[in-house]
Amino acid sequence: MKRAVFPGSFDPITLGHLDIINRSLLLFDEIIVAIGVNADKKYMFSLEDRKKQLEAAFKNEVKIKVKTYKGLTVDFCESENAAFILRGLRNTTDFTYEQSIAQTNASLKNIESVFLVCSPEVSNISSSIVRDVIRNGGDYRKMVPKSVFL
Ligand code: ADP
Repeated sequence: MKRAVFPGSFDPITLGHLDIINRSLLLFDEIIVAIGVNADKKYMFSLEDRKKQLEAAFKNEVKIKVKTYKGLTVDFCESENAAFILRGLRNTTDFTYEQSIAQTNASLKNIESVFLVCSPEVSNISSSIVRDVIRNGGDYRKMVPKSVFL
């Protein structure tokens, strides 16, 4: 069973996340979309709301599970029996950041990171830009799945 964890804050989930997760269904038998809980971080959406948004976005896909975790992503992967971490790449900034995280994770546990390059139509979408648009009263509905605004 090829199981991957797709970790993130998902504050909120965007069409960028959806693009990576849906395309990775060809590669894995099961994908755990895992919300990392960091007590020191301030979020726009509560953990409960983010979990509900994710569950609603993937309610028709049996291969996708939504979970939350604290602590190291590699420890969570081990506890879930997942051998892969899935991440998305938008640009070289993402690559540089992801490279050091992937190398650190590989040095901690025997877990392989797998990267998908995002589709061009979502390369400008990030949760932080969505939050900025929301804060300033702009129309963010083209950037997120319906579960974020319904
Ligand atoms: P983090 O807090 O770890 O940055 P995010 O929720 O922002 O978590 O992102 C989780 C994953 O989704 C990361 O691999 C990130 O690169 C990827 N991602 C975010 N937005 C996009 C996008 N527009 N296209 C492709 N991947 C994306």
